[in-house]
Amino acid sequence: MFQINDNYQKLPGSYLFSTIGKKVNAYQQANPDKNIIRLGIGDVTQPIAPAIIEAMHKAVDEMGHAETFHGYAPDLGYEFLRKAIVENDYKARGCEVEADEVFVSDGAKSDSANIQEIFAQNNRIAVCDPVYPVYVDSNVMAGRTGTYDKNTETWSDVIYMPCTAENNFVPEFPKETPDMIYLCLPNNPTGTTLTKDQLQEWVDYANRVGAVIIYDAAYEAYISEDNVAHSIYECKGARNCAIELRSFSKNAGFTGVRLGFTVVPKDLKCGDVSLNAMWARRHGTKFNGAPYIVQRAGEAVYSEAGKAQLKEQVAYYMKNAKTIKDGLKDAGYTVFGGVNAPYIWLKTPDQMTSWEFFDYLLEKANVVGTPGSGFGPSGEGYFRLTAFGNYENTVQALERIKAL
Ligand SMILES: *Cc1c(COP(=O)(O)O)cnc(C)c1O
Repeated sequence: MFQINDNYQKLPGSYLFSTIGKKVNAYQQANPDKNIIRLGIGDVTQPIAPAIIEAMHKAVDEMGHAETFHGYAPDLGYEFLRKAIVENDYKARGCEVEADEVFVSDGAKSDSANIQEIFAQNNRIAVCDPVYPVYVDSNVMAGRTGTYDKNTETWSDVIYMPCTAENNFVPEFPKETPDMIYLCLPNNPTGTTLTKDQLQEWVDYANRVGAVIIYDAAYEAYISEDNVAHSIYECKGARNCAIELRSFSKNAGFTGVRLGFTVVPKDLKCGDVSLNAMWARRHGTKFNGAPYIVQRAGEAVYSEAGKAQLKEQVAYYMKNAKTIKDGLKDAGYTVFGGVNAPYIWLKTPDQMTSWEFFDYLLEKANVVGTPGSGFGPSGEGYFRLTAFGNYENTVQALERIKAL
C-alpha cells in the first residue's frame, strides 16, 4: 500500500485569495450597480513591451525553419541570455558574477520553492513575518518546519522575524541561530526595503553564524533610492553566503510568459562541497530549460529599446504607487512602502483587524485590497494595496477612500 508525503497534510489551507474572491463576488451580486476597483492584485496589467514582442515574433519564426530551429536548451540556459544578465544586472553594478553562476529558470516562485531541497532536512529556517508564503510552505512539504499551532499561526521549528512599524520593517537578528535565512527585498507584502548598509549587516551575520541567505530580488527594478542595493552581491562577502533569485515577472510583465534565474556563486560552499555544482546537478536532472522563444524575449529586456520601454512601464506603476501613498496620507492613514516597491502597506485605522478593514473598504469605497494578516501574524492590523492596476482606476479608488 503506497503512502503519501504526510507533510502535505500538515499544510493549513490557503484561504486568503479564495476568501477575498468569495467576499467580493457576494458583494457584487448583492450590489450589481457598484463598480468595484481591485487594488489587491499581485499581477501586472500592462502589456509586454514592443521590443520584447518583436524579439519573440522573430524567435517564433526561427522555430519554423530547420536551419534556425531550437530543441532542448543548454542546462543553465542560453549563453546569450546569461551573458546579458551578467553584463547588465551584475557587472554594470560592480558585482562579481560569472555566466556559469547563473541558472535560467521558469520563474522565481519555483526556484524559491525548489532551492531548499539541496539543504539538509534538519536545517532551521528563518523568515520575515509577514512573508511571501512560498518560502514556508515549500519547507513544510519538505518536513523541515515541525508542528503547526493554529492559534499563533506559526510552525514550531521556524524562526520568525517580525517586521512591523515598531522596528521600521527591519528584521532583527534572531535569538536562535538559523541555518537558512529568507530575505525578500524590496519586500512583498510590506513594500519596504533595507539600505545597503543594513543588508551588509545581514551578510556579515550570515557569514559569522554559517547561515545561507536565500535572497529574493523579484522587485529589484522598482528601487528608486541610491542607498538600496539592487543585488545582494553589492555587499562584501555575499558570494560566500548568498543565493539570489530574480524574476522577469515584475520588471518586464512576464507573469504569463515565465522566466527567471538563480545565481549560485562558486564561492558558496559547505565544507568543500560547492552549492553551484549541487544546483547544476539538480537543475540538469529536474528541469529541461525555459523555452528558446522566452529566453530570446528575456534577452530583449536588456536591449536599449527594451530597457527604455521597461523603464516607462515601471514608472507607470510607481506613479500609481505615489497616487496611493499620497492619497492615503491625505486621508490621514499611516502608510509604508511604495517608494522602492509597487506595494503600499497601511496601518488599519481605529484598531480594526485586517479583515474588518477589508470589509469596510469593500462596502464603503468598493475598493479591494489584501488583509495583512494573510501574510503572517505580524501582518495583523495592516493592509496591502498594490500599484499594478491602471492609473485611472487607482486615482478613482483614492478619491473614494479620501471621501470616506
Ligand atoms: C511575484 C513574486 C515572485 C516572482 O515569481 P515568478 O514565479 O517569477 O512569477 C517572486 N517572489 C516574490 C516575493 C514575488 O512577489
